[in-house]
Amino acid sequence: MKAWVGFVALALAVASCGGDAADYDVEVDPSKVVDGPANTEQAVSVLSGFYGLTSAPEVYWYGGAALDCGDGHAFELKQYGWCLQGITLHDRQIVLSDYWPGQYGGLVSVSALAHEMGHVASYQHGEGGDRSHVGHYFADGGEVDQAYAMLEAAGL
Ligand SMILES: [Zn+2]
Repeated sequence: MKAWVGFVALALAVASCGGDAADYDVEVDPSKVVDGPANTEQAVSVLSGFYGLTSAPEVYWYGGAALDCGDGHAFELKQYGWCLQGITLHDRQIVLSDYWPGQYGGLVSVSALAHEMGHVASYQHGEGGDRSHVGHYFADGGEVDQAYAMLEAAGL
């Protein structure tokens, strides 16, 4: 069951990630932000260590009425027409849909967090944000897959 949940989340995250939006004019909308899972800070800490980040990203969760596309699972970035589970902004801010953690008991591992932090890691390690998911972080069995496995194993 755990593996199945992880697979679903990963597939969704990859299919609907806005990538590294450093070159877009997009800001976090405070009116859409909810508290999100209580273990977010712990998950970010674990993943920051795993990815070897020099600074942890700011993580924001959109929930409630802000989940306005994808059958209420995701949020729309209207200026680009994108329906997203997650996006990385300015290489240091991450916005995530709270739908999946909300459905799975607050588990951060079913969200796009580990995926988005892969974008931050790619940027911080001088490889660009990899919006197209072509680098080693996003390869099968790459760091992002390993990060998801780590979160699941930690019960996060
Ligand atoms: Zn992505």
